[in-house]
Amino acid sequence: MSNCVIVGINWGDEGKGRMVDLLTGRFDVVVRYQGGGNAGHTIVNEKGKFALHLLPSGIFRKGVVNVLGNGVALDPENLWKEMEDVRVKGVVINSENLMISNRASLLLPWHRELDELEEKRLKDKKYGSTKQGIAPFYSDKYQKKTVLAGELLYPENLKSKLRDLLEWKNLTITKVYGAAPYTMEMLEEWFRRYCEPIIPYIADTGTYLKNAQKGGKSILFEAQLGALRDLDFGIYPYTTSSNTLASYAPIGSGFPAVKIDEIVGVVKAYSTCVGEGPFVCELFGEEAEKLREAGFEYGAKTGRPRRVGPIDVVATRYGVECQAATKIALTKLDVLSYMDKIPVCVKYRLNGVETDEFPFPEDLEKAEPVIEYLDGWKCDVSSARKWEDLPDKAREYVTYIEKAIGCPITFVSVGAERDSIILR
Ligand code: GDP
Ligand code: MG
Repeated sequence: MSNCVIVGINWGDEGKGRMVDLLTGRFDVVVRYQGGGNAGHTIVNEKGKFALHLLPSGIFRKGVVNVLGNGVALDPENLWKEMEDVRVKGVVINSENLMISNRASLLLPWHRELDELEEKRLKDKKYGSTKQGIAPFYSDKYQKKTVLAGELLYPENLKSKLRDLLEWKNLTITKVYGAAPYTMEMLEEWFRRYCEPIIPYIADTGTYLKNAQKGGKSILFEAQLGALRDLDFGIYPYTTSSNTLASYAPIGSGFPAVKIDEIVGVVKAYSTCVGEGPFVCELFGEEAEKLREAGFEYGAKTGRPRRVGPIDVVATRYGVECQAATKIALTKLDVLSYMDKIPVCVKYRLNGVETDEFPFPEDLEKAEPVIEYLDGWKCDVSSARKWEDLPDKAREYVTYIEKAIGCPITFVSVGAERDSIILR
């Protein structure tokens, strides 16, 4: 594995953080290439339990260099707070093990506010935003109306740029949404509090990555959210505002010429989805409640109860194809141990016809799940560490899914802890 991308295959929360934490031991550099503080990766290791939002998951490994690439929504306020939270638990973060791309754009305070204002305006038509400012941020990035992290190193130019941005943004804030304008004092105070502390970490990370690779170092690229939240290929408009796919890793990391060797797709043994949007395999009532409790499915960022359902073969196969996954890590197999019969969504029914293809967003609302049941194993599998340790029915479940989604399942996770893993 010289260069590897770890991605989510479904709606997010598949357990990517847990897999990155496990695999970082084999890599020299870990890079986040898209997204912002709107997602949460939960990691349980010898230092404790952490919910990372922006920091790359390699931050816990000694000797690993962590990079925030140009593709991320760099939210200095949340990043700084997260760095302080993680440090309190004894994790060392310095400019040797954390680097921020000078080409990453800054998520400014008004992006978060505009996200709130717009969700309020949409009322019951809301997209289910985490209100972290991600959509307004990426819109402004593409309009070239925000600040690059590297511009913090040019304070004089920055001041006049901020004045222009302020004038422009206040038009929308006050005239469109009727909210209170920002002032230069507010902005300057915010820059002092949250941007100045991150200046020592800002670097030309593109050149760093290129040289690291030349020197024989291996790179792990870490995504946020899953394939079905990709702006272009997901369940638009219930997607995020960036590209979550592995093929974006070279661009968003700052190393467009990099050659990717492996793409590890993370799939949960059942489905979960946070927020709004079509979720064909969704379970309701008592059945849902039981699965949510068994998997403790509450958002790492928001605490929102996640919607749950059986594994969805149609969506997962589509996710595998979009990600061009070469290997799969199947997580949370232990959670299904209580079930007598395990439901699997094997096809969709659309306009009375069964289909294997993942539909266009407009049709997705009308699709119904076709469910089949596999036998449960009805015993605790959380101490299994070898494929042979798993009961026959659990192995049958894994091999059934593997065949159905068309990609080898090489890791099976049976617990949140680093070593609760089976390598096949
Ligand atoms: P991510 O966003 O993809 O990193 O996933 P989240 O951290 O949001 O959600 C995954 C949750 O499942 C976390 O609470 C993990 O600690 C937990 N987890 C990961 N793998 C396993 C597993 O195999 N078994 C169990 N029981 N929990 C797991
Ligand atoms: Mg998550």
